[in-house]
Amino acid sequence: MINTSYYKDLTKMNTFGMKVKARCFIEYDSVADLVDIEFGELARPVLHIGGGSNLLFTDDFKGTVLHSRIDFIEILDEGQNNPEGQVLVSVGAGVVFDDFCAWAAKEGLWGVENLSHIPGEVGASAVQNIGAYGVEVKDVIRKVYCYDTVEEEFVHFEVSECGYAYRDSIFKNPEIKGRYIVTHVLFALSKQPRPMLDYGHLKEAVTEAAAPSCGSDNQSLTPALIRKTIIRIRKEKLPEPSVMGSAGSFFKNPVVPMEQFVRIEAAAKAEHGADYKVPHYLLPDDMVKIPAAWMIEQCGWKGRRSGGAAVYEKQPLVIVNYTGEAYPEEIVGLERRIMTSVRDRFGVELCPEVEHI
Ligand SMILES: Cc1cc2nc3c(=O)[nH]c(=O)nc-3n(C[C@H](O)[C@H](O)[C@H](O)COP(=O)(O)OP(=O)(O)OC[C@H]3O[C@@H](n4cnc5c(N)ncnc54)[C@H](O)[C@@H]3O)c2cc1C
Repeated sequence: MINTSYYKDLTKMNTFGMKVKARCFIEYDSVADLVDIEFGELARPVLHIGGGSNLLFTDDFKGTVLHSRIDFIEILDEGQNNPEGQVLVSVGAGVVFDDFCAWAAKEGLWGVENLSHIPGEVGASAVQNIGAYGVEVKDVIRKVYCYDTVEEEFVHFEVSECGYAYRDSIFKNPEIKGRYIVTHVLFALSKQPRPMLDYGHLKEAVTEAAAPSCGSDNQSLTPALIRKTIIRIRKEKLPEPSVMGSAGSFFKNPVVPMEQFVRIEAAAKAEHGADYKVPHYLLPDDMVKIPAAWMIEQCGWKGRRSGGAAVYEKQPLVIVNYTGEAYPEEIVGLERRIMTSVRDRFGVELCPEVEHI
């Protein structure tokens, strides 16, 4: 079924809680419904949303917003029919990604437990290549099924064709963005334990949660235990969208040449003492990734408010709708001031992770 409404209030459909409206809003229930939508006739621009958890609406939306309610989870192969013994699961784009993680944990299937509690829906997960705790969704995706709104036909992409990189995919490429609507995704999960606990202090946290009855050996771990631990950690660090609006990490972590990193570290040592170390990750080709959160904190933004917006006190990479009444301009104003501070102090241009609409 297709439901069309006009001047639809999107406040509850974006996790930032921006009080905006869409001129036209279309919600559909099934893959087949897409054939009945006249894409050429829709008020432009056209935007397909999921849970609105990576979006910042800066104004009312003048065109058409689409939303999928395709919500099945179906096991296609228990592992008998593929050489790797993987459990192949087809999941509708409108399924809340964390509901899929909860389902997998309940079934004792491995693969998505580290991605627990990431807001948003399955369709967007394949667009964004969501990631957390050392796992990216591309690691468990086999195929992405789409509707091509230009050729008006159903197509699918093998995972190798999706151009996956850090929080990126071909679906975000400006030349084709919006052309393909993800209808469902084929995931390859595993009945065999394959815990991924190398990220940060995850292993200690999981071992502690498992104690005293068992250790962190593969036999005693379950996807449900890892999921529970990750949900606990995430709740301590990140704002719950139902309590305080945000879109998670607002900026990407910048990548700079080694010479620039050396200058930044020298300045930090001059300020904080010779033993001070700037957090960083070495990349190929003499490039260095520096956490944007560190830069924002060094500029004194952590916990600071600006009108209804604020930098989250526990994680400076997150801008929040502090009062619940923030205007888009307040969020954008704070974003600009943070970018200016970081540019002035470090000579680094921060790039937003959140999509501005
Ligand atoms: C508190 C918080 C914590 C977060 N933590 C993480 C994290 O740990 N890791 C991480 O990777 N992300 C994180 N995020 C960001 C966000 O959850 C992800 O980017 C998520 O995938 C967005 O899903 P969504 O359904 O809300 O998509 P939306 O924000 O609605 O849309 C995102 C993009 O996907 C497109 N899209 C949506 N549905 C479809 C579809 N069916 N077909 C084609 N295109 C589509 C949209 O057009 C848009 O370009 C966090 C966000 C919040 C608020």
